[in-house]
Amino acid sequence: MRNKLIAGNWKMNLTGVQIATLIGALSKQHIPTCVEVLLLPAFPYLAEVRTLLDGCQLKLGAQNLCAHEPGAFTGEVAAEMLLDVGCEYVLVGHSERRALFAESDEVVAVKFARAVAGGLKPILCVGETLPERESGAAFSVIKRQLDVVIANCGIDMFENAVLAYEPVWAIGTGRTASPEQAQEIHMYLRSQIAVHSAKLAGSIQILYGGSVKGANAVELLNMADIDGALVGGASLKASDFQEIIAAA
Ligand code: PEP
Repeated sequence: MRNKLIAGNWKMNLTGVQIATLIGALSKQHIPTCVEVLLLPAFPYLAEVRTLLDGCQLKLGAQNLCAHEPGAFTGEVAAEMLLDVGCEYVLVGHSERRALFAESDEVVAVKFARAVAGGLKPILCVGETLPERESGAAFSVIKRQLDVVIANCGIDMFENAVLAYEPVWAIGTGRTASPEQAQEIHMYLRSQIAVHSAKLAGSIQILYGGSVKGANAVELLNMADIDGALVGGASLKASDFQEIIAAA
């Protein structure tokens, strides 16, 4: 039985005061042990959030990491530093990184390996754009994004990883994949993992991301291969995020 993981990707949002208020509210919610909740703040707030989370079961992760080991890379943040400030997870391959910062499948694979080497659990995001879906290429795009990481890192590196299916056309648009559309891709992703390891295919968590909100969370999270949600906009307001946690 896989736990549900609900991850809040705050992106480049929230100030220190807003974060303290949000965490104050979130920490009051009862969360059963079969549900994991993860917060992904911007770099400058990671240490502060770690302190705010002391004594509560919410987990901490980062939104990005450097593709290199610690060294002369001005402005970058290494996996080891994220671990040092208390991160457990890190996003890799988010569509905004791929599209806005030109991160190729190969760069994503290097970052995935760096995350694991640095002691973090990578959350590998994959997903197709609208033209790709409309041209019938959704499965091949997702397969390519996953295969490059498997080929470069090896399947064993996925032991401590999470997958996230995030159709680009559903991110921040208010347009969600239907539970059936999401389930179809999740099942496909699991089958692609099963090609390499049946055991891992049964245990790996696969999150759905793309305009998840209280109103659609129950239906999505009820699907057999959807093990949680990666939430952007709705993670910024306590009551919205709590509705999704309650759905899990
Ligand atoms: C995201 O950025 O990972 C995301 C899913 O955003 P939103 O929930 O706002 O669509």
